[in-house]
Amino acid sequence: MRKKLVVGNWKMHGNLNENKQLIDALVTDLTELKDAQFAVCVPFPYLYSMQGSLRETNISWGAQNLSQFDKGAYTGEVSANMLNDFGCKYVIIGHSERRSIFGETNQIVAEKYVAAQNAGLIPILCVGETLEQREAGLAEKIIDEQLSVVIELAGIDTFDKSVVAYEPVWAIGTGKTASPQQAQEVHAFIRKGMAEKNHKIAGELVILYGGSVKASNASELFAMTDIDGGLIGGASLVASEFASICRALNN
Ligand code: PEP
Repeated sequence: MRKKLVVGNWKMHGNLNENKQLIDALVTDLTELKDAQFAVCVPFPYLYSMQGSLRETNISWGAQNLSQFDKGAYTGEVSANMLNDFGCKYVIIGHSERRSIFGETNQIVAEKYVAAQNAGLIPILCVGETLEQREAGLAEKIIDEQLSVVIELAGIDTFDKSVVAYEPVWAIGTGKTASPQQAQEVHAFIRKGMAEKNHKIAGELVILYGGSVKASNASELFAMTDIDGGLIGGASLVASEFASICRALNN
């Protein structure tokens, strides 16, 4: 059976005080949930405090980005090994905000994926199409390209230790969610493409859906055959909302 996973993406939100309140509430609310796995991906400066607060809990933590380079003269960058120093389990790679605002190409995303895996981190590889691409009938082509560059560089076998997140760009932070059927279609497409390369890996691959998931729509999305959990942005900043989403998957 595939692992079930909910990951919060805090983006560039929070401060020490707010984070403590959020984390304290989550630790309490999620403690009884044993059937799924949970994680929060937080801004770099807060990883140290996550390590302290979450070490003994059922919530893992991770980062939202990393450098494709191991070390060197790369001012402002953070390496995979630095994330390891703070006990990260996961790192989000290729989020659409990184691609569109910070110019990350499929090639850079693939290099970051490799850097994460070489350091033993689990990459959460984000893929997804824009509204224009969807309306032009290009969604599958775009997602296929995004995945292919990573598969070519890293190899299909590495997907036994990674997570894929389908995040339609038009649904991120917009309040518009893909319908369960729309999301399922793309998840099935991703799994089928993987299965053509390695049936076993495709069967075990955890594919998350992300894009305006809320407590009110989580259950119907998670009920879909190929949706194994969620990558949650805005709703992960509200403890009660995030906990409800986690409960919807744990059931
Ligand atoms: C995200 O940032 O990955 C995301 C899915 O955001 P939101 O849930 O706010 O749409």
